[in-house]
Amino acid sequence: MISIRGLTKSFRGAPVLRGIDLDIEDGEKVVVIGPSGTGKSTLLRSLNFLDVPDAGQITVGDLTVDAARASKSDILALRRRTGFVFQNYALFANKTAKENIMEALVTVQKRPRAEAEERALSVLRETGLAEKADSYPAALSGGQQQRVGIGRAMALGAEVLLFDEPTSALDPEWVGEVLDLMRRVAEKSQTMIIVTHEMQFAREIADRVVFMDGGKIVEAGPPSQIFDAPRDDRLRRFLKRVG
Ligand code: ADP
Ligand code: MG
Repeated sequence: MISIRGLTKSFRGAPVLRGIDLDIEDGEKVVVIGPSGTGKSTLLRSLNFLDVPDAGQITVGDLTVDAARASKSDILALRRRTGFVFQNYALFANKTAKENIMEALVTVQKRPRAEAEERALSVLRETGLAEKADSYPAALSGGQQQRVGIGRAMALGAEVLLFDEPTSALDPEWVGEVLDLMRRVAEKSQTMIIVTHEMQFAREIADRVVFMDGGKIVEAGPPSQIFDAPRDDRLRRFLKRVG
């Protein structure tokens, strides 16, 4: 249901994605691991054109977008099918938790405000934040802010959710509640692509783990292969480093 073909991206002539091919099934949880600077964020960001890829094709459901000639409407359609969860939450500081979740529903999905509000409140209940609906991000803990960030992505009803190191910016005390929420999202057979350094979590949640190095997928397989019987030397060295 998601298919990535020959995805490439350079920044100022420096190649960051060197031809990524990846197929992801409906409901599959794919965890992406790898050294920093290796293109993991760029891969996720390219999937909804937060970074504009140079070449390749992206298919999500019935939509195929050719990176080299994507129209505005292609990009909008792709963004409707993907929800993004940022490392630093990226909430609007001047909007409440509820308004943060409503924002894309109103502006991107063009839903009536009343319907968007109802949806936001329902998602806030699901994320255990009903009583924080009218709180501004500054009044929330890091864990609560990231749960709003996840709720915002969930609310879109997107075909795939993209998580870019969702717990890396958190104080250790808040990591557990965010991972718990991600487990609950996963149980709803939501397709998820997750970049994380939480190896225990990766092992537990992933149907497939993808190891990237130098802008390429070096090895991919079930957690049992990647963590217990890694084949590639670079993957072995990486796992030793991250312990
Ligand atoms: P990762 O998420 O695996 O740590 P990134 O995808 O963030 O890696 O970055 C890969 C490489 O691309 C890095 O060398 C980074 O400096 C570079 N890069 C990422 N985004 C930009 C950008 N907007 N402009 C210039 N270089 C970038
Ligand atoms: Mg990154």
